Amino acid sequence: MTERQVLPGDEIAVEEEYVASDGTYVRDGKIYASQIGTLILDDEESIAKVVPANPPNVLKEKDIVYLTIDDTRKTMATATAIATEGTCREIGSSTVATIHVSKISPEYTDNVADEFRKGDLVRGRVISVKPSLQITTKEPHLGVIRAQCGICKTELVKKGKDLHCPKCRRSQPRKLADDYGNVKI
Ligand SMILES: [Zn+2]
Repeated sequence: MTERQVLPGDEIAVEEEYVASDGTYVRDGKIYASQIGTLILDDEESIAKVVPANPPNVLKEKDIVYLTIDDTRKTMATATAIATEGTCREIGSSTVATIHVSKISPEYTDNVADEFRKGDLVRGRVISVKPSLQITTKEPHLGVIRAQCGICKTELVKKGKDLHCPKCRRSQPRKLADDYGNVKI
């Protein structure tokens, strides 16, 4: 078996000797790499394929993701997905996410600003990726996992169902994850 790094368009084999497989294409009897990666010429199976060095981390339904809240509007929060649970690999698909007001909490809410604030770090679950990334935080383990006071930037602490700023001595409501203040990623 031969292995080497190849670029898209590199001629890697001829069809007489190998069957073109993943990451390749054929033109005029020659096999070319269609992606960057490691070329594998498998002589036993007579297969030529190119395996990406780092398979992209493409978000899919039911994935658990970590997001930062960018803005809260009347019917939804907009957020940026920054990581997927269980992998350090960078997200390779769109990270622009929305959380609709009906998908925030199992309890009724009609005010997104009572659940999330700009800058909150949130754990959510992917509902759909097309046509846009939609997130739910309805489960107990989903919701805000870290938040700062909007006035003094002190990290907020859990007090009852709400978050509390020990400096400003003010409480703010949130949809909290059940492990707020004790998160292990
Ligand atoms: Zn404060």
